[in-house]
Amino acid sequence: MKKITIAVDGYSAGGKSTMAKDLAKEIGYVYIDSGAMYRAVTLYCLQHGLLKNEKIDEEGLKAALANNAVRITFHANAATGCPDTFLNETNVENAIRGMEVADHASAVAALGFVRHAMVAAQQAMGREKGVVMDGRDIGTVVFPDAELKIFVTASPEVRARRRFNELTAKGIAASYEEVLTNVRKRDHVDSTREESPLRQAADALILDNSELSPAEQKEWLLARVREAVVR
Ligand code: C5P
Repeated sequence: MKKITIAVDGYSAGGKSTMAKDLAKEIGYVYIDSGAMYRAVTLYCLQHGLLKNEKIDEEGLKAALANNAVRITFHANAATGCPDTFLNETNVENAIRGMEVADHASAVAALGFVRHAMVAAQQAMGREKGVVMDGRDIGTVVFPDAELKIFVTASPEVRARRRFNELTAKGIAASYEEVLTNVRKRDHVDSTREESPLRQAADALILDNSELSPAEQKEWLLARVREAVVR
């Protein structure tokens, strides 16, 4: 069957990753979490003193990216069946999910030279098609020609509650209020930044999953994939 590119965009904590991961598994595609790449760059900044008192050392980060000192790769995790994120050959899948990284990721992702480097890497990963990639600018900038584009929405409160439950289940300390503030802050930064702001692509299909069960969501998605493959 023809392989296509599937772009899943939307606001923070909208359940995009879980949805995209499950879909990729179901149809035998590669799943790529573009947000994990911005998180890994943020972790690199925190680990190397490039992010202090809310200020990013842009020159330092630019040099690190140019010197290939920030190598981000994905490797399948046999236990979960999903790709884990590696930063310079170290598994950082858990380290990039904490609140400190989440708090600074949008600021790092707003830098043009960071986006430029990540977009090039994402386009290279998706060259062969057969990928489901989730993020903010996948349908608009990374793969404007994707055969299927989904834009996921849900209210900030629904998204914060979900993310809070996820963090709690993983044993990561956070309060609901803190998560809601973070979700709102990221929505704002992501939609108002100059470089590839979060926008719904004109040809994206909207999926409001506030009221959908995971099973209903999956059924809806599989129907859209079937349509896109025969188009
Ligand atoms: O999707 P996730 O919440 O893990 O993404 C982390 C951060 O990376 C987001 O807050 C957003 O600012 C940024 N991001 C982005 N473009 C993407 C994916 C994520 O700017 N394609």
